[in-house]
Amino acid sequence: MLPWKATILTLFPEMFPGPLAHSLVGRALEDKIWALNTINIRDYATDKHRTVDDTCFGGGAGMVLRSDIIDAALRAVDTSVKTQFIYLTPRGKPLTQKIVKRLTHDTSQLAILCGRYEGVDDRVIESWTESHGLEEISVGDYVLTGGEIPAFTLLDACVRLLPGVIGKQESLDNESFELELLEHPQYTRPQTWNNKIVPDVLLSGDHKKIAAWRQNEAEKITQVRRPDLWAVYQNKKT
Ligand code: SAM
Repeated sequence: MLPWKATILTLFPEMFPGPLAHSLVGRALEDKIWALNTINIRDYATDKHRTVDDTCFGGGAGMVLRSDIIDAALRAVDTSVKTQFIYLTPRGKPLTQKIVKRLTHDTSQLAILCGRYEGVDDRVIESWTESHGLEEISVGDYVLTGGEIPAFTLLDACVRLLPGVIGKQESLDNESFELELLEHPQYTRPQTWNNKIVPDVLLSGDHKKIAAWRQNEAEKITQVRRPDLWAVYQNKKT
């Protein structure tokens, strides 16, 4: 079977695999559970200075990546497998675990466009949205200098869901955002640390009581920290 694939369109291909070469995601890359490919946007420049950007119409500071160059780079993606094109941008849909699951399970390849400078000429984003269903995704309400760090975030979240990357299915089923709840607290040895003790119930061996305690803690923490998630959870319950 072909590995799940990520193709990154970037001005800084040397940044990859970077953190994705380490730990579970790195081992999965070595084991060919997933594959990583980069496309250097600058290879699609047409002048001798390999220019990829220009000043923005209407004035204002900063440079914008040219639509003709980005279009040529996007066309270089091998689409022989089912591909979802993504532009990472603060203007995109906020990334959630639900989106991560869909991107991991419904496609064989993510083609991820990383912007730089003031971003990308809007016409190429509009065209690829119309012609190829490109999606715009944000990793949060803050502005980074480029899309490469958001790409690390997106890929780390996706790859850990691929079969064989994380040992026990259980560790995926109980974690934050499953069923719209944050995860309950976790503890390990030593049993007493800094005068703080592990809740008795977790040492009881009573699996039913432990499950009830965990559910209750997950609900409590979600209610306090994330009223938005709590509202969704309650709606689903009723
Ligand atoms: N002028 C843009 C704006 O105000 O929306 C910001 C451009 S940012 C300096 C340069 C590039 O970084 C963007 O094109 C995008 O690819 C990436 N980027 C920055 N913040 C991001 C975020 N929160 N989520 C996803 N990508 C982001």
